[in-house]
Amino acid sequence: MAVNFIELIKKTGCDEAVPAFNIDNLESALAVAEAVKETGKGVIVQTIPRTLRYGGVAVYPAMVKALLDGYDDLYCMHLDHGDGESLASECVKAGFSSVMFDGSALSFEENVQKTRAVKAVLPKGITLEAELGAVGGREETVSAVRYTDPFQATEFVKATECDSLAVGVGNAHGFYKGTPDIKVDLIEKIRSKTNIPLVLHGASGLCDEVLRDCIKAGIKKINFATELRKAFTDGMKRGLASNENCIDPKIYLAEAVAEIKKTVLAKMAICYKL
Ligand SMILES: [Zn+2]
Repeated sequence: MAVNFIELIKKTGCDEAVPAFNIDNLESALAVAEAVKETGKGVIVQTIPRTLRYGGVAVYPAMVKALLDGYDDLYCMHLDHGDGESLASECVKAGFSSVMFDGSALSFEENVQKTRAVKAVLPKGITLEAELGAVGGREETVSAVRYTDPFQATEFVKATECDSLAVGVGNAHGFYKGTPDIKVDLIEKIRSKTNIPLVLHGASGLCDEVLRDCIKAGIKKINFATELRKAFTDGMKRGLASNENCIDPKIYLAEAVAEIKKTVLAKMAICYKL
């Protein structure tokens, strides 16, 4: 059984964070599993509702469980950008050890109320990530960048009893257009006001130095999705180009697995100072 993200965070050093990787298919799950076995370090494996609608809720945790058999204490199975109690319950039943509820598009009051409603349906030991202050770009829905207010964050964490908080500090989903401006001092302020692990979404395209600064300021979970999808696509294209007459997906997708694994190991090196 996968552990929750607090268990993984407990094992990190003071300037370390747990990387969270969004998987889309067997190839991305394989790449992440190989990286975990190679490094012996913990990761959060996560999926968004769109992925779950594509393959079915039960498929992804079962696949990861089989791939990481014997490494249960090194991974958390997490629902990324969940939309409410119903999906959260379905995920827990299917083997997820952690869920996010993303109420960042709602008013403060509604966000508190719906986050609490999700918290209420979670069995003991299942962790809950909430979000306050929208992350820019596109994940499930389009939203503008809003910065998390540190004072509101205090009130929010107290009212919802969430286990971690995703923050808006200039970060955005997808690749950045122009140079990203991450407000590291705002992370520090929110961290000092809330005293729970903070989560950085939209880390694809942020340079190593910025990521390290964010970790030092209090980020304990960093989400990587876009870069993994690009790695898969680049690897697959290369695999197809170099095996022109091949019709066996296992042969040309091996390049995709290798490319994702390279990206995953690089992100793990930043998060764990490897
Ligand atoms: Zn996100």
